[in-house]
Amino acid sequence: MIIGSHVSFKKDTQLLGSVKEALSYGSTTFMFYTGAPQNTTRQPIDDELTKKGLNLMKENNIDINNVVVHAPYIINMASNNDFAVTFLKEEIKRVEQLGMTKLVLHPGSSVKLSEEEGIKNIIDNLNKVGKSNVTICLETMAGKGTELGKNFEELKKIIDGVDYELGVCLDTCHINDAGYDITNFDEVLKEFDKIIGLKYLKCVHINDSKNIINSHKDRHENIGFGNLGFDNLIKIIYNDKLKDVPKILETPYVTLNNESKERLFPPYKFEIAMILNKKFDPDLINEIRNYYK
Ligand code: FE
Ligand code: FE
Ligand code: ZN
Repeated sequence: MIIGSHVSFKKDTQLLGSVKEALSYGSTTFMFYTGAPQNTTRQPIDDELTKKGLNLMKENNIDINNVVVHAPYIINMASNNDFAVTFLKEEIKRVEQLGMTKLVLHPGSSVKLSEEEGIKNIIDNLNKVGKSNVTICLETMAGKGTELGKNFEELKKIIDGVDYELGVCLDTCHINDAGYDITNFDEVLKEFDKIIGLKYLKCVHINDSKNIINSHKDRHENIGFGNLGFDNLIKIIYNDKLKDVPKILETPYVTLNNESKERLFPPYKFEIAMILNKKFDPDLINEIRNYYK
């Protein structure tokens, strides 16, 4: 099972810290941002920490090709600005320097443009970024606001317009919120295969959703605690067609209010254990609090 979660990438520990965090959750892969997800401030990559991180991955049989980097979500490739292009080029260099091969990207939001213009900008901007050794994986979006990439047809248009090969990252919360019925996941995959092609699927984000189908909200929930439910998510995670695709949890941290101070705990160690056991634990949230407090 190729499963892991979003982990941090800290200034002073970088990749080595990310690998250690992933291993502490019992993960066999992981995903990280090369800096804060909500801004574009980035530190130079420290080759010494990268080497140590890669060695630790090797010792623990983590395949570098299953590791995923996520581009910051504030760059908007659907807009008409060169900043997004320049930043993404720089980001790809960082991903290459780390030795990674997969970069997840939110396609962008049309904002005041038409959807057609937005999609055209995404295509033009990705063509300006150009081909590299890193596969840019467009994420399936919830369709919140003016987000593009909210259905397989839009992703297919972008894939066809770009003059090098892209991949796709399917997010279970997002496709539910976008209107796909994940209770019939085999049908969803069939449609994905028909419109885009299963070989383009390079990553799956495993998240439950706080909202119902077609809500266009994008609010993640812990595994089994949302509208997708444990059994449906297990069917997706163990789907034979996704056997070789890395599965990444992006579920919310568990909160604990203590002396008027809010503390946050990562749920991933417990969610991964529950997934491997294939048995829902209704008391999971309290167990996480008790473990970390
Ligand atoms: Fe994402
Ligand atoms: Fe996601
Ligand atoms: Zn999301």
